[in-house]
Amino acid sequence: VRLSELTTLRVGGPARRVLSPAHSQDLVRAATEVWAAGEPWLAVGGGSNLVVADDGFDGTVLRVLTRGIEGVPARDGRVRLRVQAGESWDGLVAHTVRDGLSGIEALSGIPGSVGAAPVQNIGAYGQEISDSLVAVDLLDAESGLIEHIEAADLALGYRTSVMKYERRGIVLAVELELEARRESVPVAYSQLANTLGVELGATAPLNMVRDAVLTLRRSKGMVLDPTDPDSVSAGSFFTNPIVSAAFASELPERAPRFPLVPEAADVAVPLGSDPAPPAEAHDHRVKLSAAWLIENAGIARGFRLPGSRAAVSSRHTLALVNTGGASADEVLQLARYVQTRVMAEFGVLLAPEPLIVGAVL
Ligand SMILES: Cc1cc2nc3c(=O)[nH]c(=O)nc-3n(C[C@H](O)[C@H](O)[C@H](O)COP(=O)(O)OP(=O)(O)OC[C@H]3O[C@@H](n4cnc5c(N)ncnc54)[C@H](O)[C@@H]3O)c2cc1C
Repeated sequence: VRLSELTTLRVGGPARRVLSPAHSQDLVRAATEVWAAGEPWLAVGGGSNLVVADDGFDGTVLRVLTRGIEGVPARDGRVRLRVQAGESWDGLVAHTVRDGLSGIEALSGIPGSVGAAPVQNIGAYGQEISDSLVAVDLLDAESGLIEHIEAADLALGYRTSVMKYERRGIVLAVELELEARRESVPVAYSQLANTLGVELGATAPLNMVRDAVLTLRRSKGMVLDPTDPDSVSAGSFFTNPIVSAAFASELPERAPRFPLVPEAADVAVPLGSDPAPPAEAHDHRVKLSAAWLIENAGIARGFRLPGSRAAVSSRHTLALVNTGGASADEVLQLARYVQTRVMAEFGVLLAPEPLIVGAVL
């Protein structure tokens, strides 16, 4: 099996072996055997955040296809959902919107599986899975044990968690806590608020939020759709860079920048002092817009290198798309070109968002 058949960017050579256990016990058994044999391995859900090299993957691909959603009432009118890793993320969101459970509606339309969602703490339109995640069951590749890990111990951050690079294993199940009501959580993204015709911070009916998010995402080619060539991608190819406020102040005035929510350590206040944290504790790091940096480094939507079948999406500068038959090399060449232009213009190194297997950027 070629990885190009298992990934949304449709690049990647063959895997030595692909196992597709559909039940949790079979998945555990398969993974444990592969690990005991010391074989290289790769977990694959929907393949929507993966770029695999043309040489493929000389190891075992463990496809996660386990299904099941269970709901249990929790405290204060909330509902706890325990979801098997192979469920479709967007299928889950649709299910919660239908059932009147509020908390993940703005994450509508994100491709891929439930198990991969906490790996990079998926986020969009002002929501992240970390807002609702309670815990995961992780089959730990080192210990071989199934560990129930609370969300607070997963180091969930902007498009990252401890599972992205450090703690390897397979997420078997995810537990979320949602509010039982038909109204969304406060809308935290201006473009979404505008589309809904509500104030930022106001709420709206769950199904309206879902529809508005899907409409916005479709307009950017960010919903998987066989009829939309701009959706043949791995989503955003680069993360928004996080830099010091001092560095950001050197950038052109027009460059968008967003303050980061201060980390707990930043706002610790010595006992006996004024409870308000010092203002500078809030603003020493800022997030830049990777899309703005790319566009303003002179790379237009639809850009491609001469003779290449990889292109910048015609509707969203952050996505690199396979226009048909592109190789992983072509995609990576384009990604390096984008990185180089942005570095030369602004001194910022863009980091890739997807996991790159068998190659380095
Ligand atoms: C059109 C498009 C739009 C997108 N929009 C967004 C967006 O708005 N926000 C966002 O955050 N992301 C977005 N993405 C990225 C992607 O959809 C998410 O990262 C998603 O969670 C990946 O899920 P997957 O099952 O496809 O993961 P895969 O691509 O299969 O795997 C991704 C990583 O997770 C690991 N992994 C997969 N399953 C498991 C498991 N069960 N246990 C442990 N590790 C696992 C893999 O080994 C790999 O490292 C988009 C992608 C596309 C193609």
